[in-house]
Amino acid sequence: MPDRVGYNEWMRMLRAAIEAIRTNHEALSKLDSFGGDGDHGTTMVRAMACVEKAAEAAPPDVESLLRDVGWGVMGVDGGATGPLFGSLFMAMGEAAAGSEPLDAAGLADMFEAGLAGVQKRTRAKVGDKTMIDALVPATVALREAVEAGASVSEAMSRAAEGAEQGAAATKAMQARFGRAKNVGEQSIGEQDPGAASVSLILRAFSEALVP
Ligand code: ADP
Ligand code: MG
Repeated sequence: MPDRVGYNEWMRMLRAAIEAIRTNHEALSKLDSFGGDGDHGTTMVRAMACVEKAAEAAPPDVESLLRDVGWGVMGVDGGATGPLFGSLFMAMGEAAAGSEPLDAAGLADMFEAGLAGVQKRTRAKVGDKTMIDALVPATVALREAVEAGASVSEAMSRAAEGAEQGAAATKAMQARFGRAKNVGEQSIGEQDPGAASVSLILRAFSEALVP
């Protein structure tokens, strides 16, 4: 397998992410019931339906695929999730322009751009108990792996580990953004649902790239 990620690989990655969210949506809603309104799993399932629809219709290149997927997710109603995950995918697509199929460094560029896209929509930082707590360590781990010479699939696996560790760390945090902020200390003790979604998606991406 060439060490590049093109349209076919991204389609596999997206399908794996859709599957992972569908399998785990009840657990995601349960996490959201501790501090939020208990809808994160169902909202993510709706987001994944948009991912599926947009992916089927998109032109067969990574830039268009991710951009169209992002647009689709952006339109999901139900609070914070649509704009945050939508801008993640859209910015990733824009970053893929002109460098397809992507090598590991190109993949790291995509995730850094995606993170920057999310950060345009929220001032949440690491430690605030949001999806940022999974996305930042994933992106950092991905770049570090690339700089250490990792293959695409190794680098994506490191990113998934980073996301999982970041999501696990949110258990001990008190929410400072989103609805969970309103419950104060009661938000301590369980993972942030958005961070859990990011880690599921990145693990699915990683498994889809195992040679
Ligand atoms: P809502 O809170 O509108 O019901 P969801 O339940 O679908 O939306 O998603 C909640 C998740 O979204 C949180 O766990 C958190 O990760 C993320 N989130 C919510 N608001 C913000 C924000 N302002 N900045 C960053 N992430 C946020
Ligand atoms: Mg919610």
